Amino acid sequence: MENDVDFNKVVRQHLEMEQFFTGFTIRRESRMPEKAPQKDEAVITEKSRELDKIAEEVRRCRQCGLGSLRTNAVPGEGHADARILFVGEAPGADEDAQGRPFIGRAGKLLDKVIAAMGLKRSDVWIGNILKCRPPENRDPRAEEIISCYPYLQRQIEIIEPEIIVALGAPAARTLLNTNKSIGQLRGQFHEYYAGLGRPPIKLMPTYHTAYLLRNYSPENRRKVWEDMKKVLAELDLPIPEHG
Ligand code: URA
Repeated sequence: MENDVDFNKVVRQHLEMEQFFTGFTIRRESRMPEKAPQKDEAVITEKSRELDKIAEEVRRCRQCGLGSLRTNAVPGEGHADARILFVGEAPGADEDAQGRPFIGRAGKLLDKVIAAMGLKRSDVWIGNILKCRPPENRDPRAEEIISCYPYLQRQIEIIEPEIIVALGAPAARTLLNTNKSIGQLRGQFHEYYAGLGRPPIKLMPTYHTAYLLRNYSPENRRKVWEDMKKVLAELDLPIPEHG
């Protein structure tokens, strides 16, 4: 019958979707090359210490109303000298419970994207615009962004990534100071203003992994993968292929 659901097709599509970011391999031997020139261990240790200090400040922060609602603040985590820095919107319930970014469903998908890129989570740095969870995961409010964003700006200044990947509209709009939609912004590099006397940092906006989970289309996943391939190419890293 015409209106009958083809369950086989639905299951097949579901599996295709689940597997989209798995099974990528790199043709030539690669690891996350260090930034050139290579940083002294002491410099990286100092960066970690500075990031730890910011994380402590974030955990004590009560600058906006979210400070009294959180279970845990989520300062962000990863390599102190990462070449790629991922920025999301704000912690969700899982992140609030554990104090770590991107560990829920959207985080698991981000892990798959990072693995598909031939990288490990520990190669990159992951954080959010807001460090505390808005109730019911509502959108961040302007006053919350205004009080919280300086923490991320300082973290970016310390890490000095070569590329920032903004996941979703709130991250991309905040970092680029624009009102454009994520559809308009994604797919091309923009410049993040890194402060007086500092060179701008290349920024690639892409769809948030939570959006990918809500909008179950191979087309959207393909777009994210296209964006990540541009990031890898810009860093002169090998681009994994399927199979
Ligand atoms: N979504 C985000 O934007 N950040 C997280 O840390 C988790 C989900």
